[in-house]
Amino acid sequence: MQGRCLCGSVRYRVRGQAYHVTHCHCASCRLASGAAFVTWFTVRALELEWHGEVRHYQSSMGVQRGFCPRCGTTLSYRHEASPDEIDLTAATLNDPEQLEPEDHSWTQDMLGWMRMLPLLPRHRRHRQYDHSA
Ligand SMILES: [Zn+2]
Ligand SMILES: [Zn+2]
Repeated sequence: MQGRCLCGSVRYRVRGQAYHVTHCHCASCRLASGAAFVTWFTVRALELEWHGEVRHYQSSMGVQRGFCPRCGTTLSYRHEASPDEIDLTAATLNDPEQLEPEDHSWTQDMLGWMRMLPLLPRHRRHRQYDHSA
């Protein structure tokens, strides 16, 4: 599996199996990404190869969040309690659909309006240019 940040300065390659594919709704993931939730998958740290410079931010004790210093894409999460594992953002995969999310984490922090997600009007493209909906 391969993935990249928005600008392409950082790329990664995973040899081996991804596991623990989850949508995380915790407040830290929201702020780190600027999105309502973040979809993560876990890999063995030894099976991950980075190309380009990843910068890290310590978001809480023992937690390092990796991002591209040029474009800001949220890329990784690592907890010092699990040094052999690293989480990567599923949306940065070249083919995000190769993974199947299994569950939701930190639903105690989930935004109330997530409930409305499947019920909202849908526009195939930008709402401003879509007059068919
Ligand atoms: Zn970038
Ligand atoms: Zn989270």
